[in-house]
Amino acid sequence: MDRDSMCILPLSAKMEDHQLVDVSEIDEDDAFEPIEKLTNQGINAGDVKKLQDAGIYTCNGLVMHTKKSLTNIKGLSEAKVDKILEAAEKIVHVGYVTGNEVLQKRKSVVRITTGSQALDELLGGGIETLAITEAFGEFRTGKTQIAHTLCVATQLPLSMHGGNGKVAYIDTEGTFRPDRIVPIAERYGMDPNAVLDNIVYARAYTHEHQFNLLLGLAAKMTEEPFRLLIVDSITALFRVDFTGRGELAERQQKLAQMLSRLIKIAEEFNVAVYMTNQVIADPGGGTFVADPKKPAGGHVLAHASTIRLMLRKGKGDQRICKIYDSPNLPESEAVFQITAGGVADCKD
Ligand code: ATP
Ligand code: MG
Repeated sequence: MDRDSMCILPLSAKMEDHQLVDVSEIDEDDAFEPIEKLTNQGINAGDVKKLQDAGIYTCNGLVMHTKKSLTNIKGLSEAKVDKILEAAEKIVHVGYVTGNEVLQKRKSVVRITTGSQALDELLGGGIETLAITEAFGEFRTGKTQIAHTLCVATQLPLSMHGGNGKVAYIDTEGTFRPDRIVPIAERYGMDPNAVLDNIVYARAYTHEHQFNLLLGLAAKMTEEPFRLLIVDSITALFRVDFTGRGELAERQQKLAQMLSRLIKIAEEFNVAVYMTNQVIADPGGGTFVADPKKPAGGHVLAHASTIRLMLRKGKGDQRICKIYDSPNLPESEAVFQITAGGVADCKD
């Protein structure tokens, strides 16, 4: 791509002297309650440590656990768990709230630019925190390229439609390319090395490994401000690890557990979850559809995703994104382009 075509990229303003991930810019309302606060409510430090060892680092995360899963933690009796939950509920609110309070909470939603204004508008402003955005489509439709662009965009300040936060990237297909991050960071005038330092990356080889990586994230997200979690792709390892017909129920159950963990992370830490998905042939797609395809993962995935995006190829580098399912967005389309500097608007 030449320099002239760089000029059509939407965010012409460059970052100047901006410190990546400026902690002072982080909203107070965003803050989660650290698990150590339980000690103020009479829970002893030893029991707090047991919770941390089990991957629970915030009171917000604690109340998302079932009693059964907490009593499975070594050294925590049912009576202790009751006391712990009672203490946690004094710190975080778990009951009914008014519609206005929900509205207030929704104000903490951050919308991260995708790099294309047309795509951002389609999404109502960008990829949202407190939600799971799923992108599915055939190979080379841009799912992974969107992920790479988001890795950079998330680190932009809020004033540039960024998330002012770090990125966690779980790669199940081995397609993360740090060298792709470099020109995208340069497009925004950011130091590529600093941008790469703010991405924590893990390659997962089995669905169990993928789940354990999610459990390990809570500790990292408590320590540093994260705004995006990428899982590329969510379904690939499940389709490899469970092949037999008789394994379908188990596969869907494990997938549901993984997705439940993802939505809890989104809500606990106010992060956006961007996950990609593959498509499978849909023989029930209808006689009038030439090449019927549907997203993998069935109903379990359909219910877990807040926003589902269907990607397809257009002319040349162009890609078309359609809202497939969303609680508040109309079913419309946007056209974007994959450039050296990442996802961008089309030139014409
Ligand atoms: P898969 O299902 O195989 O994972 P995907 O939807 O993740 O596919 P991507 O890897 O996001 O597909 O997109 C690949 C497309 O991105 C290719 O068509 C490629 O031409 C384009 N692309 C990759 N790098 C660049 C670049 N530097 N400049 C322009 N286009 C690029
Ligand atoms: Mg890909």
